Order: sequence, then structure tokens, then C-alpha cells
Amino acid sequence: MAAKIISGTQVAAEIREEIKQETAVLKEKSGVVPGLVTILVGQNAASVSYVTAKGKTAKELGFFSIQDDQPENLAEEALLALIDKYNKDPKIHGILVQLPLPKHINETKVLYAIDPNKDVDAFHPVNVGKLVIGEANFYPCTPYGIQQLLVRSGIKTDGAEVVVVGRSNIVGKPIANMMLQKAKGANSTVTVCHTATKDMAFHTKRADILIVAAGRPKAITADMVKEGVVIIDVGVNRIGMTPEGKAKLVGDVDFEGVKEKAAAITPVPGGVGPMTITMLMLNTLKAAKVVANIA
Ligand code: NAP
Repeated sequence: MAAKIISGTQVAAEIREEIKQETAVLKEKSGVVPGLVTILVGQNAASVSYVTAKGKTAKELGFFSIQDDQPENLAEEALLALIDKYNKDPKIHGILVQLPLPKHINETKVLYAIDPNKDVDAFHPVNVGKLVIGEANFYPCTPYGIQQLLVRSGIKTDGAEVVVVGRSNIVGKPIANMMLQKAKGANSTVTVCHTATKDMAFHTKRADILIVAAGRPKAITADMVKEGVVIIDVGVNRIGMTPEGKAKLVGDVDFEGVKEKAAAITPVPGGVGPMTITMLMLNTLKAAKVVANIA
């Protein structure tokens, strides 16, 4: 039987509609409008398109949104001063510094400078630590999107064998930590694989839910999964680049190969991708609600 396609595009649209409605209610009840600033240093083409998409989505949802473009040669102290300004700005509830930063700027120092209450990317160590102990204010956007895809698709996570491929700080580690919490949409038995894992197929074949964030096309093939597995493919790989600069987007999973075996799978594009920006907006709304003292 062919796998059910878990459409991130559709789930993201549902969540955006909810955010839009809640934003209108928040404004009416408290006068607070969720405010998001995206700080872009330099003009990296991919970063420009991500930041533009974030600003556009924020405006569509009724947020107050600033895109603060800074030159490539911006000094680290100047960026820290800018963050300090937005930390103190009552109209701003979420601060996002678009990564990667130019080499002369210490990324860790910058992320640590963001007020944890405005850290809507959830990369500040306070928020990372809170996530681990089950007290999160914010979840990082991509893992949060993955969890929402599972919950809103009615996938049972309680007691499920979840195998995560990848251990990055932005996807693998946080989603593994989230799925092992004693909480709704989690409570799973979690295994994390990486490049030093001896026999990856041994682990992936045991998965009821397989979350793949390796950044390698076909890292997962049909022989590595069991019948009925639910697969969340986080990978975004550009292959077959043409001289005009056009490429095909593929995930980390051999979609054609596994689709007859899996119970459900996210496509690439149209799976996890559309969820990430949406969860950034949800985090900004949450931050604004805290300020407005509305649960
Ligand atoms: P990353 O920082 O490069 O981490 C990749 C992880 O995968 C590492 O832990 C690495 O292991 C592991 N790995 C790589 N190849 C492997 C293999 N063959 N077998 C087992 N493990 C392997 O990447 P990331 O930032 O987590 O991103 C992963 C993918 O998700 C990328 O394609 C990225 O573009 C995509 N992504 C998508 C979204 C979205 O919104 N859709 C958001 C974020 C990321 P080691 O630690 O041992 O090196």
C-alpha cells in the first residue's frame, strides 16, 4: 500500500490560520501586536530569501515586522549593540539573527546576547537547557514543526520507537530531546544515529517513526526501514545543478523506494520546510502573549 503523504504545506496553512485569528484576538484584548525583527548581516542569497519569506509571513499574519539589513562588514560590537536595542524595545517580542554570520563575528556570542524571552529560534543555552528539563518556553522551529506534523497527522508517539538520524544542535539533538519528554506528542523511546553509528540499518529498521536530518540524499533506502514506518524527511539537498543555477530539491530519504513500505512520509519539498517559518511565527505569538499576560 502506498504511503500517506504528510503535507507540511497543508498543516502549516492550518496553523497560520490559527495564528492569524489569535493575533487578532490578542490585539483586541490587550492592544499588543506580536513584533518580530529579523537581522540580516550581509547579502547571502539564501539568507536574503529566508529573511524575506519570514517578513512576508509575519505581515500576512498581522504582526509588526522589521527586517534590519546590515552590511557584511558590520562589527561584532555593533551587532551586539543592535541586539541590545531590540532586547529593550517593547514593540519587539521576537529577535531572529539570520545564520550563518560573516566569519569575523562570533555566532555563539551573538546568540547568547539575545534575551531568552525573545529568543524565538530557541538557540540560547537557557532555552536549550529548559527544553532538556521539560520546561521549554520555546521549541526550536524545525523540531517544533516536526512534532506538530506528527501530532496533527494523528501519529501515535507514546511508547513509539523513534530513531533520529543526525545530531545537529538545530535539528537532531533538540528533536531527540523533545520526543523523549514525558509529554503529549512525545513519550517515545529515542535512538540517535550519526556518522560514527556502527550499523545504521540495524537501528533504522526498528523505527516506528524515523526522523532523518543528515543532509545526504538517499541516506535512507527501502532496505533500511520496516513496513509501516512513519518517515519525517528533514533533509534539503540540491542536486543536478544546471548551468542556469537551477537544481532539483530532494530530501535525505529515497522517497520512490520507501513509499510502498512506509505508512506515511513527508515529501521534499512540501514537508518539514513550510513548517519551520510557521513555528517561528507561533513562537513570536507566544512571546507576545507572555508580555500581554494572556495564556
Ligand atoms: P548538519 O549540521 O550537517 O548535521 C547533519 C547530521 O547528520 C550530523 O550529526 C551528521 O553526523 C549526521 N550525518 C550526516 N551524514 C550521515 C550519514 N550518512 N549517516 C548518519 N548520520 C549522518 O545538518 P542539519 O543542520 O541538522 O540539517 C540536516 C538537513 O536538514 C540538511 O539537509 C538541511 O538542509 C535540512 N534542514 C531543513 C530544514 C527545514 O526547515 N526543512 C531546517 C534545518 C535543516 P556527525 O555529527 O557525526 O557529523
